[in-house]
Amino acid sequence: MINKIINKCKSTFCTANNINIHPAMDRGIAPTASNFSGGTLQCHCSSNKVTVKIDSQTAHNHACGCSKCWKPKGALFSQVAVVSKDKLSVTSNAKKLNVVDATATIQRFACKDCGVHMYGRIEDRTHPFFGLDFVHTELSSDKGWSAPEFAAFVSSIIETGTDPKDMVAIREQLNALGIESYDCLSPTLMDVIAAHVANSK
Ligand SMILES: [Zn+2]
Ligand SMILES: [Zn+2]
Repeated sequence: MINKIINKCKSTFCTANNINIHPAMDRGIAPTASNFSGGTLQCHCSSNKVTVKIDSQTAHNHACGCSKCWKPKGALFSQVAVVSKDKLSVTSNAKKLNVVDATATIQRFACKDCGVHMYGRIEDRTHPFFGLDFVHTELSSDKGWSAPEFAAFVSSIIETGTDPKDMVAIREQLNALGIESYDCLSPTLMDVIAAHVANSK
């Protein structure tokens, strides 16, 4: 019986009715703490961990389905938030960080030993999100980080191997978690981008 269910669900990350959106979301989403003021991210290495200190709460946390953001093993989505870049500092093993793709808009700094992305930075001063760094707060054991608010680039998970037939169930699962699905960014962030474009004309 179980085999039948598993066989019905063809995509790699979808087993039976258990859809692995993201480990920090599948078992309920931890709430944002109003007085939270930051914490430390650690890579997955067992020793000589890269650590990144963040001196503020994050914003715009969301699930991202794009193929560039780092996803934990087995997850369909990454979970990514932003923080002002002056609030972020690499506090140990900085020499282990490498830029994943130097041609990408976001320079994603990953640990070259475990592959975890520690932060992403935009160097283009004209970019609407210049000044913000992208971080995965699941890498922190500190509790109270801003909770994910929406899912971006949902359809993009098809590009990385999800069977299109599974998409209805995946969007329903996001909905059940109280997460709105978008195939670009959220309306708020799309408005920020459009306003930036209008202002720079
Ligand atoms: Zn590492
Ligand atoms: Zn992404």
